[in-house]
Amino acid sequence: MLIVMHHSATDKDVEKVKKAIASMGLKPVAIPGAERTAIGVIGNQGWIDDAPLRVMKKVVEIIHVTKPYKLVSRDFHPSDTVVTLGGNIKVGGKSPLLIIAGPCAIESREQILKTARFLKKIGVPVLRGGAYKPRTSPHSFQGMRKQGLDLLDEVRNEVGLLVVTEVMSPEHVGLVAEKADVLQIGARNMQNYDLLREVGQIRKPVILKRGLSATVEEWLSSAEYILLGGNTEVVLCERGIRTFETATRNTADLAVVPLLKAVSHLPVIFDPSHATGQRRLVPPMAMASVVTGVHGVMIEVHPDPEHALSDGPQSLHFKEFKKLRIQLRELEGFMKRRVLP
Ligand code: PEP
Ligand code: MN
Repeated sequence: MLIVMHHSATDKDVEKVKKAIASMGLKPVAIPGAERTAIGVIGNQGWIDDAPLRVMKKVVEIIHVTKPYKLVSRDFHPSDTVVTLGGNIKVGGKSPLLIIAGPCAIESREQILKTARFLKKIGVPVLRGGAYKPRTSPHSFQGMRKQGLDLLDEVRNEVGLLVVTEVMSPEHVGLVAEKADVLQIGARNMQNYDLLREVGQIRKPVILKRGLSATVEEWLSSAEYILLGGNTEVVLCERGIRTFETATRNTADLAVVPLLKAVSHLPVIFDPSHATGQRRLVPPMAMASVVTGVHGVMIEVHPDPEHALSDGPQSLHFKEFKKLRIQLRELEGFMKRRVLP
């Protein structure tokens, strides 16, 4: 429920309404606007009888929000959320396009160090790399797990980059949050509600990837779990969805970018690697996503993709990645926005 106050409402009027909401056993969230204040109500599990509120001073309108999410919606938070990674890199709003890159999985010290040094040299601020890997087949490489996490931490300190890595189970959240600057929740875990609740308790940014066949409503509802826990630093990542088409690994749903930006205040990034599954499709789709208005891109890059232990066919060679970065930069003028780095 959303209570819209008259533009002449004083702080005292707003406080009175908030008190009345609290006395109904619900939680009020003030949403100050340029013209007027609105008060969001959370904590209800069904229809709220708004009669006591309707008669209150300076209440002009009461809107019953029927969506399963509130905190992530623009109705509750009209301005863009800008998420700060590692204290200095910003994503969202009018911040420059963020580029995150790295291998699908951490495979060895040499592999991750080589990638980190390459990215550092060309000015990419955030390194990705999976330690805990959600693999479809149990026979596939499962990731280096704790050892991979330690390697990532080592490389982060040695090279001076921020790192993103996936967390798959609620028990690992504390450990991963200690070693990484940003936590990733993968497509397969988008609806792991215990995991969402757990990352809601930490104070580190979370990249929430879209589930393989998740609707926008389901995706935003998952983000709502994290915000409800008190962690507001959530970045949505489109990574392609499953359709009848098998020519690409997934179907890149770029229409959700402007759609999400209209209905939610959270930053939106795009992962062209998993969305396509093919190296040659990655650069054009990364470019296309920038035109749709993404706040960032996350791209798989590997020093030797032909011998990668996971997702080699969609991983760019260093040379290809370097070229793509230059092309993304060339979009700067067109988008009238600074593309970093
Ligand atoms: C990944 O980022 O390597 C990954 C496993 O992605 P997704 O969860 O989108 O499949
Ligand atoms: Mn991958």
